[in-house]
Amino acid sequence: MTGAMTFDEPAERVELRAAVAALASRYGPEYTRAKAAEGAYMSELWKEAGELGYLGVNIPEEYGGGGGGIGDLAAVMEEFGAAGCPTLMMVVSPAICGTVLSRFGTPEQRRSRLPGLASGETIMAFAITEPDAGSNSHRITTTARRDGDEWVLNGRKTFISGVDVADAVLVVGRVEDSDTGRLSAALFIVPTETPGFEARRIEMDIVSPDHQFQLFMDDVRLPADALVGDPDAGLRQLFAGLNPERIMAAAFSTGFARHALDQAVSYAKERVVWRDRPIGAHQGLAHPLAQIKIEMEQARLMTHYAALRYDAGDDAGAGEAANMAKYAAAEVCVRSVDQAVQTLGGNGLASEYGLGAMIAASRLARIAPVSREMILNYVAQQSLGLPKSY
Ligand SMILES: Cc1cc2nc3c(=O)[nH]c(=O)nc-3n(C[C@H](O)[C@H](O)[C@H](O)COP(=O)(O)OP(=O)(O)OC[C@H]3O[C@@H](n4cnc5c(N)ncnc54)[C@H](O)[C@@H]3O)c2cc1C
Repeated sequence: MTGAMTFDEPAERVELRAAVAALASRYGPEYTRAKAAEGAYMSELWKEAGELGYLGVNIPEEYGGGGGGIGDLAAVMEEFGAAGCPTLMMVVSPAICGTVLSRFGTPEQRRSRLPGLASGETIMAFAITEPDAGSNSHRITTTARRDGDEWVLNGRKTFISGVDVADAVLVVGRVEDSDTGRLSAALFIVPTETPGFEARRIEMDIVSPDHQFQLFMDDVRLPADALVGDPDAGLRQLFAGLNPERIMAAAFSTGFARHALDQAVSYAKERVVWRDRPIGAHQGLAHPLAQIKIEMEQARLMTHYAALRYDAGDDAGAGEAANMAKYAAAEVCVRSVDQAVQTLGGNGLASEYGLGAMIAASRLARIAPVSREMILNYVAQQSLGLPKSY
């Protein structure tokens, strides 16, 4: 039954999930909420998870990582979320930055950056979104020009997560080809302490220890080796980070959905208001919860499939699956939180249960890192061959 085996997670990943779930449940949603209220990051959990090797499961062993795949890191992400402790930095630091640097970094960039990302001792943020470009990343204007041995970077970024806990940002910009004058994509490692680099926090209505920032880069001078890998391969490097980003975003959402569904189901089993039956006996509540369970398992399966394709080295094949997984997971994330609020009645909006605060956070799933509409555009064009509308 080879086919069936493909759909089972390997034994080591099942063990990894159990170990991560045990760690994260020691912290739980109360810890996350307390950190969010203080305006602090979940540093204790991040540190412990890093020491146990969970944050670097996808990073090559020679750099201190676990040597596994994105499927392993997605399992860690989902278990953090299911335990009520999700963090976007797992998507950004080991998944996007770790993948791009492992695959394309120079030997020196890999040696200097990957061990810290693997252990969690250092965190990198990732910056592509710009105020005047948004979903249209072809429109970004952050530009680096060569000045002797240095690069001089200028530009603006917005909604960049975790700059407060990061020691460097992987910035997507453009460089001018000295022969043709054409601008092509290029990625730069920008330490947050570099003169000319400024981060301003954006106030958000999401209750989370992850914070978002606007970045201002004015004549930021960087050494020649701040440019990631080969200057002619910028676009390829960028695309290499997109599938892991989407697979991780899907795992973020399925973890979030699981957390809300678990809360709703436990409450529905306990709460009695008519005769001696718990409210979960009413089909008006039981059926939506059952639908969410079905849609969540479908999204998890698609996430698993996308990770399998990606980890098998099939970047192109993983693209469609990663987009579909991200879409399905975001939809069930939003629906799961919404139905959990409904299931708890008034308690669904009481601070003690934390679900009201999860409404805004769950909506993020439909917006970032790629919006629902941009995924539908992708599927309409790439999977169905329909014409492009924009
Ligand atoms: C909490 C949070 C964390 C984030 N973290 C990061 C990060 O760490 N790094 C980073 O680089 N970015 C980050 N982002 C940015 C995020 O990736 C963008 O918000 C997202 O890509 C959408 O861009 P936008 O907000 O500019 O929306 P816009 O591009 O302005 O889109 C607005 C609306 O128009 C729709 N739309 C746009 N174009 C089309 C089209 N062609 N067809 C149909 N509909 C369309 C969109 O789907 C959306 O509904 C984060 C955002 C949030 C909210």
